[in-house]
Amino acid sequence: MSVKPLEEYKKKRNFQQTSEPTGDEKIDGRKKNQFVIQKHDASSLHYDFRLQVGDVLASWAVPKGPSTDPTEKRLAMRTEDHPLSYGNFEGAIPEGEYGAGTVLIWDRGEFRNLREEKEGKDMEASLEDGKVEVWLEGEKLQGGYVLIRMGKDDGQERWLLKKMKDDKADARRNPTSTEPKSVQSGKTIEEIEKEL
Ligand code: MN
Repeated sequence: MSVKPLEEYKKKRNFQQTSEPTGDEKIDGRKKNQFVIQKHDASSLHYDFRLQVGDVLASWAVPKGPSTDPTEKRLAMRTEDHPLSYGNFEGAIPEGEYGAGTVLIWDRGEFRNLREEKEGKDMEASLEDGKVEVWLEGEKLQGGYVLIRMGKDDGQERWLLKKMKDDKADARRNPTSTEPKSVQSGKTIEEIEKEL
């Protein structure tokens, strides 16, 4: 998104105040195609959907969270790239800081780039095109998901996130309601909040 990787991420945060990763951590170069979905109870509750693209996590804020129902379209606002190490972050962002609130690792795993398999488009090219198709192998979410860029609002890209029709689609599952706990700690967002 920006010329210097993570420039916007670093600019928005005061690392004296927040325990979020600085983005200067050593990168594990063996890790490829990781994804993470973080439930973020900030000024308004949303889910941050993040896909590894090279050394960063391309990110979208999804107010209603991902669905397993292929007829549901979920608004996904593109946000600044995050460091790969952010995928392990769970805890609190202090009051007054950017994104203040509680973060829970709702799902994670690896993904396959379906456009690469079909047409040789890598993730960078897919982002540029405004169409990303991935196959998730998460603990909660599996199967194909598509992200389509719809336009821009005040400079922020507006995308839609949708489950593809495949054998992992399930209109009745509603995992954001029925499976609220962290895949890292097994805690709910209320439990994480109470401990801080
Ligand atoms: Mn967020």
